[in-house]
Amino acid sequence: MNWDQLLNEAIHYLQEYIRIETVNPPGNEIEGARFFKRIFDRESIPCEIFEPSPGRGNLIATLKGSEGKRPFLLLNHMDVVPVEKEGWEVPPFEGVIKDGYLYGRGALDNKSMGIVEMMALLILKRERTPLKRDILFFASADEETGGRWGVQWAMEHLPSLSQCEYALNEGGYIMVNEKGMADRYEVSSGQKVIYQLRLRARGTSGHASLPHPDNPNVKLVRALEAITRWETPFSVLPMVKEFFRKMAPKQPPYEKVYFEDIEKGLQDETFSIWLTSNPIYNAMLRNTVSLTILQGGKKANVIPSESTGVLDCRLLPGTDKEEFLKEVKKRVGEEIEVEVIAESRSLPPSPMDTELFQSIEAIASEKDPGCPVLPLLLPGATDSRFLREKGIITYDFEPFRITEKELMRVHGNNERIELENLKFGMRFLVDLIQKIAT
Ligand SMILES: [Zn+2]
Repeated sequence: MNWDQLLNEAIHYLQEYIRIETVNPPGNEIEGARFFKRIFDRESIPCEIFEPSPGRGNLIATLKGSEGKRPFLLLNHMDVVPVEKEGWEVPPFEGVIKDGYLYGRGALDNKSMGIVEMMALLILKRERTPLKRDILFFASADEETGGRWGVQWAMEHLPSLSQCEYALNEGGYIMVNEKGMADRYEVSSGQKVIYQLRLRARGTSGHASLPHPDNPNVKLVRALEAITRWETPFSVLPMVKEFFRKMAPKQPPYEKVYFEDIEKGLQDETFSIWLTSNPIYNAMLRNTVSLTILQGGKKANVIPSESTGVLDCRLLPGTDKEEFLKEVKKRVGEEIEVEVIAESRSLPPSPMDTELFQSIEAIASEKDPGCPVLPLLLPGATDSRFLREKGIITYDFEPFRITEKELMRVHGNNERIELENLKFGMRFLVDLIQKIAT
């Protein structure tokens, strides 16, 4: 295979794709779907566009295999977040190439993934590689604002998608240091559960010159003080235990012993304080509570009759929501009303003892011997939750080598991808598909 020629092709396609503005809202992903359809049609790969709402396009393409095994789904989203044009060194929707990078909104999140996934299908089709299962490509709408017109819709309306055995989605990367050496592969296999609560305090309104004890703002502030000081208990999921165990070899001797047995480590107060000062480690080990919205009062000289606060809680999969709510109510006290305003289903993480995870590990050990492949519990939410709901084993992993600094450009200014990464990503995906489908 001529990888340099394939890289040129991928660069050309990514430039064209970035020039299609799919900022959500409004999205206008239909233009992205048409872009993919033109290419798949040319290569005789069957594909279909779905438009559940005007302008909100989704596309599914199928590379046929024999019926032996259930399909493998390559997922990507076409919509992007808005830009602050003044902050960019280059125009964000032109696909400018500079210093070995391709710049543009979506260059990382998530248009490059769409392009390397598409290229993998094109390559396997051109090579006439016999496959033991269908490989599905799904470019979705509306990821950036919740997935209602994208993956959520697709899971309800496209039965062929819910029959997949495995799926690969955005999320984890191959994290490299400044010298380009791989530090770890992050393959997210689960995510926290959304559980958002509104607290409401009621009281007696009146003139602020006559303070009285029934001021709702004062009641709310006291309740919030109690709840935000709550140190929720640690609970170590098997995948999180595995995450720390695999991180152990890279730690200095004192920390290493505790990473190997994280439950034991958490019993050492000094270690657990140090460990949980890292917000990501902290979020992987316990339920978290963030105070995000505060509303109370409109006028400086009026005591209001009501005030509210919103808590964005993220629970570990498997947490009993009723029990958690009871704990919250106990802490804020009887006078405060607590209402659930949004929640996602508590879904168990995808298992790790699978052909797909092992195949990723096998490729990792060829490319970066000794580098750990870590199962990450994502603190945030991705579209993968809709797939796991259907029982599809889903990993959030993009085969791109990236530094933590580069990753900061996602949703930020001057988002870009290193051109070499497109070649690496295509090769990785072709290898991966060959491992699990030939
Ligand atoms: Zn994304």
